Amino acid sequence: MTGTTLDDYTDRYARRVRGMTASEIRALFAVASRPEVVSLAGGAPYIAALPLDAVGEMLGSLAADHGTSTLQYGIGQGTPELRERICEVMALSGIDAAAGASPDDVVVTVGGQQALDLVSRLFLDPGDVVLAEGPTYVGALGAFQSAQAQVVHVAMDDDGLIPSALEAAIADVARSGRRAKFLYTIPTYQNPAGVTLTDARRDQVLDICERAGLLVVEDDPYGQLSFDGEAPLPLRARRREGVFYLSTFSKTFAPGLRVGWILAPHAVREKLVIASESQILCPSAYAQAAVATYLSTMPWREQIKTYREVYRERRDALLEALTDLMPEGTTWTRPSGGLFVWATLPPGLDSKAMMPRAIAARVAYVPGTGFYADGTGGGNMRLNFSFPSPERIREGVRRLAGVMEQDLAM
Ligand code: PMP
Repeated sequence: MTGTTLDDYTDRYARRVRGMTASEIRALFAVASRPEVVSLAGGAPYIAALPLDAVGEMLGSLAADHGTSTLQYGIGQGTPELRERICEVMALSGIDAAAGASPDDVVVTVGGQQALDLVSRLFLDPGDVVLAEGPTYVGALGAFQSAQAQVVHVAMDDDGLIPSALEAAIADVARSGRRAKFLYTIPTYQNPAGVTLTDARRDQVLDICERAGLLVVEDDPYGQLSFDGEAPLPLRARRREGVFYLSTFSKTFAPGLRVGWILAPHAVREKLVIASESQILCPSAYAQAAVATYLSTMPWREQIKTYREVYRERRDALLEALTDLMPEGTTWTRPSGGLFVWATLPPGLDSKAMMPRAIAARVAYVPGTGFYADGTGGGNMRLNFSFPSPERIREGVRRLAGVMEQDLAM
């Protein structure tokens, strides 16, 4: 046979596949999950804090209680019952009926990740620009890159996204003749930086986007997980037009069920549903019934408080260990919620190059490079505190500090 052989797929891939590379983070998880490794790399909630027996019982009787509907196809937008409950959850963060939230404008998704893919499908043409915090959530980078969009990062400080940097980035993009479609932001307990956009800056950011004609995609998986007082009002509670609010039950209930949602401006909701139907037909009826039943029959508000207490203790353990053990010149953020601390290494250290030595020392973290579209971030690392116990966190930091001291001495 002449010409290409059937195992040569390289030339056949669609253009959007060319930018697809395996996430460094997912590759890390295989190594990091070995029991002898203290993993500060993951982002998994501490599921053991759930009342597992009661949840198991609820799941076991779901089909019997709901009849065959849990095993049947459903509607693309998601069940009315779950969308009602989602509105109750959002109301807790200030996104209530007065803010224009309605079950009719909620689209249930397969986790927050499908929500990111849906907004990308709806708004991004190849070459379009998405503005996003630098660093930003790795799964969002994947969704935007699959849509062949370019991500332009906007700098943050301890108060979140810097408004003047946002204005400068918008002007730069316009000067280069490209089109910025939306700002993607995780304003509260940001992943990976752990910082929160202040109240005053929230209104500034909304004003800047409105003036520039930019949509805002607000991703808020962590807003309920606050440790030191309530989080500032979400962007969507302040403005309804032009703001898409994305969230998920992955961090407040269970990621294995893969249930998230988008609250969309009314005019867009139908297109979102059509786009979702073309991807998945409808979200899992079983998973939706599980979440709706959890929300209607179990003390979910108390559970959020439990998660807050567990994570607050672990955040404190991590910050204390960092203060006690990190080599001089290391700095880090002090999150008041969420799951992550972002550390900046002393000059000369490279978090990606150091990773094999860290694994050999039985500790894992995520190198900062995974959170930038342009591969910068080698001077940073993300540290997770939700999953390991306070003792394991301290041991992990001790091992990590040892590796850093060795690298500094090289
Ligand atoms: N957005 C952000 C900022 C996240 O951190 C995550 C989960 N790590 C997601 C979206 C996706 O969550 P899900 O598990 O619901 O797909």
